[in-house]
Amino acid sequence: MNQQNRERVVVIGAGHGGGLTVAFLRQFGYTGEITLIGEETVLPYQRPPLSKAWLKGEVSKEGLALRPPAFYVEQNIDLHLGVRAERIDVEARHAVLTSGQEIPYDHLVLATGAHARTLPIPGVQFTNVMTLRTLVDAEHIRGALGPGKKLVIIGGGYVGLECAATARALGAEVTVLERASRLLERVASAPVSAFLQDFHEGKGVAFRFNAGIEAILGNTQAESVLLSDGTQLSCDAVLVGVGAIPTASMAQAIGLRCDDGILVDADCRTSDPHIFAIGDVAKRPHPLYERELRLESVPSCMEQAKRVASCITGREPAAAEVPWFWSDQYDLKLQIAGLPFDVDETVVRGHPEDAKFAVFHLCAGHVVTVEAINAPPEFFAGKKLIGSRKAVSSEKLKDLTISLADLAA
Ligand code: FAD
Repeated sequence: MNQQNRERVVVIGAGHGGGLTVAFLRQFGYTGEITLIGEETVLPYQRPPLSKAWLKGEVSKEGLALRPPAFYVEQNIDLHLGVRAERIDVEARHAVLTSGQEIPYDHLVLATGAHARTLPIPGVQFTNVMTLRTLVDAEHIRGALGPGKKLVIIGGGYVGLECAATARALGAEVTVLERASRLLERVASAPVSAFLQDFHEGKGVAFRFNAGIEAILGNTQAESVLLSDGTQLSCDAVLVGVGAIPTASMAQAIGLRCDDGILVDADCRTSDPHIFAIGDVAKRPHPLYERELRLESVPSCMEQAKRVASCITGREPAAAEVPWFWSDQYDLKLQIAGLPFDVDETVVRGHPEDAKFAVFHLCAGHVVTVEAINAPPEFFAGKKLIGSRKAVSSEKLKDLTISLADLAA
């Protein structure tokens, strides 16, 4: 019996990262025991469709699953669903479930994700004031949407905008309240914000910027949202989409280093050498940037799951990928690669009025970020340029007669 056969990996959090970690472990030949613990009652599933195709009814519940049920049986993965891991005993090296069961580990992977942030205002307790993180949340929201229903969305971020697009497609009236002076202020450039605002308005979404929210009013249910300027917006439902908080309390309780997430090294190892953390809960020094970053995206969580599975199986990890993200709204495909640190030049290629353009951000003659709207070739070329750090002139990036694939080659 080799060493690995006697080892035990326990993964806490059966979401996207946890589901991928157990699959990569087996794919990379791990022969020891694997236990996956998740408080949700469903098999690991993809969250991105919850605000898009699933909410529109275009994908079934089974279609969301990362792997079919048979996979976990065939791969001998011990699943504990519908149960929380309550604490970790780092001395004894076991996780303790709410049922009292103790599960020993040699390697523990924390993939506990993040939970939706709420607002500290009166009225958030009404059942028609919702957040979106899980399938159960999405089922709740789907029940509240329909022709003529008035939906107020608090927060003009990705989740808010994707839900606005879906709600319009389902015939709801939508108002988005945004605290900042433009959409996606922290994560998108001004040209992209302006384009998205125009596009949504063209589809009938109303926006209010610099909006302060005082309270959600109603008797047994939310009936209106009261703004700080005294305006009262009537509603049938409210969706609060104001970001997510990393679910790190169990890690904090055992003294792992945390700061807006669990701090890990480039291999996703925490301050305890037997414990890894990945996905939305992990804050990591990104190999391509000299900063610790907590990235909430599927590609990032996939890269980290692969990295941990490589470390545990002693396999050479794949090279770091340029971080990227996507969002679908109506028939728009938004793809973003890189992070806009130290930008000294911004170039728009194409025309926003055609709903097909890309915004490149440069630092000292290198592309550091690309935001592409309905422009996959620009996205792929931009991502390649970011990874290669090949110098490129803004004139060439702008010039539609020059092929970006050639420029990036
Ligand atoms: P999660 O998938 O959230 O999984 C964490 C799991 O851990 C959860 O099931 C939670 O219940 C469980 N858990 C927590 N604590 C415990 C405990 N103590 N015991 C047991 N279980 C526990 N990313 C993109 O790249 N593109 C998109 O278009 C996109 N759209 C999105 C749309 C929505 C509506 C949402 C919510 C997210 C979207 N994301 C998107 C982000 C992406 O889904 C996340 O980055 C990804 O799910 C992170 O995976 P994770 O494993 O870290 O966390």
